Amino acid sequence: MASIPFPAKRVPAAVGKRILAGLEQAYPQAVTALEYRNAFELLVAVALSAQCTDARVNLTTPALFARYPDAAALAKAPLDEVERIIKSCGFFRAKARNIVAAAQALAERHGGEVPDDRAALESLPGVGRKTASVVLAVAFEHAAFAVDTHVFRVAHRLGLTTGKTPLDVEHDVTALLPREEWRHAHHWLILHGRQVCKAPIPLCERCPVAALCPTAPVVARLRTRGATRTAAGRSPGAEAAAASPRGSALAASKKASAAPGPARPGRKKAARTKPSGRGRS
Ligand code: SF4
Repeated sequence: MASIPFPAKRVPAAVGKRILAGLEQAYPQAVTALEYRNAFELLVAVALSAQCTDARVNLTTPALFARYPDAAALAKAPLDEVERIIKSCGFFRAKARNIVAAAQALAERHGGEVPDDRAALESLPGVGRKTASVVLAVAFEHAAFAVDTHVFRVAHRLGLTTGKTPLDVEHDVTALLPREEWRHAHHWLILHGRQVCKAPIPLCERCPVAALCPTAPVVARLRTRGATRTAAGRSPGAEAAAASPRGSALAASKKASAAPGPARPGRKKAARTKPSGRGRS
């Protein structure tokens, strides 16, 4: 439901803290779905996960790490061979180039080890703030909060932020949490985004923090409007689509976006459904 408008205002800080506490309670064991054995493998896995599922990455990395078990080995790898191994992850040429170049930089500048330092990580080829944050938080247990597409969307829908960039979102969400919670909060929001607050259709009826969420009434209204129009008559195909929660909500949101006048106060913000930064973790 890409056209669900994000709330124009943040919820009060006290409410934001209660929302995050609710997510912590709902996802107490949340960890990364990427499989890795050390910081090097995590860094490569995160690089491969851009625009790709973690499950696909987990199917790909065993062969890659069996052939190239560390930065020194990957630094000398022929590009075409790396491309062949990681092909199913998408954007495989760019990813192969980046992970081999990053391995070369690790071998040349860091003795083959992954540095636990943000500036050093972000100086590696293909490594931006999000990837560095995941590595710092997951591999080194530093206070870091990575913002991917799920985190960006869920944080906005919950009114935790109105930020335009992933960095804005990071600042707004971390301001609501003690530093020791930052690295866990990333996983709460990702899991919630994958399992419940999905794009485009959030499953608000299953949401543990729906009572505090400013977007829940909006989703309910969109669903009600869809049902009303179905009752008023439409083509059999359209009615069949509207009969499912997904079809109903989608149809309702499209109509709401097309409607003129002041009934759409947040329409421009609705386009802000993805971070402008790099891909997902
Ligand atoms: S109530 Fe709905 S929109 Fe709000 S966080 Fe939960 S699933 Fe997402």
